[in-house]
Amino acid sequence: MTLDVTDPVALARALIQCRSVTPEEGGALTLLQSVLEPLGFVCERVTFQEAGTPDVENLYARRGTGGANLCFAGHTDVVPPGDAAAWHSDPFAAEIRDGLLYGRGAVDMKGAIACFVAAVARAIAAGEDTGSVSLLITGDEEGPSINGTVKVLQWLAERGERLDAAIVGEPSNPDALGDEIKIGRRGSVTGELVVYGVQGHAAYPHRADNPLPKLAQFITRLSGTRIDEGTRHFQPSNCQVTIVSVPNTAANVIPAFAAATFNIRYNDIWRRATIEEWVRLQCEAAALATGARYDVSFAGTGDVFLTERGPLVDTLSSAVQAVTGRTPGLSTSGGTSDARFIKDYCPVVEFGLVNRTIHQVDECVPLQDLERLTEIYRLAVLRIAKAVDQAAA
Ligand SMILES: [Zn+2]
Repeated sequence: MTLDVTDPVALARALIQCRSVTPEEGGALTLLQSVLEPLGFVCERVTFQEAGTPDVENLYARRGTGGANLCFAGHTDVVPPGDAAAWHSDPFAAEIRDGLLYGRGAVDMKGAIACFVAAVARAIAAGEDTGSVSLLITGDEEGPSINGTVKVLQWLAERGERLDAAIVGEPSNPDALGDEIKIGRRGSVTGELVVYGVQGHAAYPHRADNPLPKLAQFITRLSGTRIDEGTRHFQPSNCQVTIVSVPNTAANVIPAFAAATFNIRYNDIWRRATIEEWVRLQCEAAALATGARYDVSFAGTGDVFLTERGPLVDTLSSAVQAVTGRTPGLSTSGGTSDARFIKDYCPVVEFGLVNRTIHQVDECVPLQDLERLTEIYRLAVLRIAKAVDQAAA
């Protein structure tokens, strides 16, 4: 039986049935390529590798050459199903019960990929002008995200391939389709703080220097100081201390050092460099108060971004409104996604399905949501690239 690509339910089911748990391709990209090529997409598969990380397959598909290029970005990889026995049906069987499609990836995010492909297929079938439209699909979003979108974007840029606007199909809605378009994300940085002391016997503290009370003061400063008041589109930045560790197993030994790990989610007042500077200032103040020696280091890749209102945000908003009757909120909450890489190349937003069951047992999507998201994406394909071209003219 051949697949009806104008039907997002049929395509979503076929994608869910591919066991593409990160980093396995699982046949998902091959399936996509097999439905995109007959629609006139030029498909390229690229595998990227890096020492210490799994090789990852990616797909870039483009149809049309004129005008602005609207790119749909997403991932076919899924998180593991967890205890498969806890599911009411096999997580890769893609069963439909009571108007819901169940399976790992139903909302995060094979469902949205199916909707986008069905949207383009419907527009083509209706003889509508889809302009230039592309899909950038990775198999490495739920994993280390090293051999996926970030490298595909570099590879495209090196060839002079331009993206003019992008929709990441991550499940952006908290409760119902049309709740929210994500127009930005907070930045995320993880810090590692080590406070040094002098090891010794707990009975002779004058011969030692206990780093723990000093570390406590660093922690109080980092987590107790208000970083900012929030901005127009973002909530206040915040620092959460998540791990405290001491290399000590004996109750009568004062440890030589004590460490704390913390994570900061920061808004658009800051950039990675300035938020690091804020941390160093807090640490300096705590060091001055305690006389402690310390080291602090940072890791993390997701810098803050914001896509201001313009052709992409406004046109997508009106498409959501036309189909759902609701005006979507423009939100910047939540965790990171591949939009953090795309933002360096073109305006990007996230809009997909409802995220209530993502990564859970019995992940599921209402069939009605698949139908409505397909219509939203169809309007997006027909209108966004044109709006970008008009704004640039
Ligand atoms: Zn996802």
